[in-house]
Amino acid sequence: MDKVLRGHHLLCVHGFRGMGYSPAFIEKMASIVKDIRDEKKDFFITTVEAFDDACMACPHKGAAECEAGEGANEHVLGMDAKVLRHLGLQHGQQYLKSDILKLTAEKVVPDDLDTLCANCSWLSYGVCKEGIANLRKKDIDEPKKKPALQTSKK
Ligand code: SF4
Repeated sequence: MDKVLRGHHLLCVHGFRGMGYSPAFIEKMASIVKDIRDEKKDFFITTVEAFDDACMACPHKGAAECEAGEGANEHVLGMDAKVLRHLGLQHGQQYLKSDILKLTAEKVVPDDLDTLCANCSWLSYGVCKEGIANLRKKDIDEPKKKPALQTSKK
């Protein structure tokens, strides 16, 4: 159940609507997203600036780096770093899913994606901003007691 997710995928999971790079990738992403959106489930997520669970099923995963196109690896690593910094999370650290969702709802507004996800080909579809807006709405409509951020080293 625990997962490894790269920084920018912490935002992608809120915009995912079944689109993706291949059937295997879509299936993997759908299963990650299902667990993320299931309010009854909580688990640890190791946040990284590197390949993650979704990359493992991606046709663009090369031996050592993302090969989605020219400059893709630098681009995705840059987004990972920006998102982790924005959320105050660190590479290689584990956090509870529930804490990451709260942080995302509190710290990310839809228009932040213009900077955090600049030049991402999915941004223009609008579903990512929509996903963040829905997450924030849910957090405001259904406020929950906020526990202290829990971390655990692997
Ligand atoms: S395109 Fe690159 S960063 Fe995105 S899932 Fe595939 S390998 Fe990972």
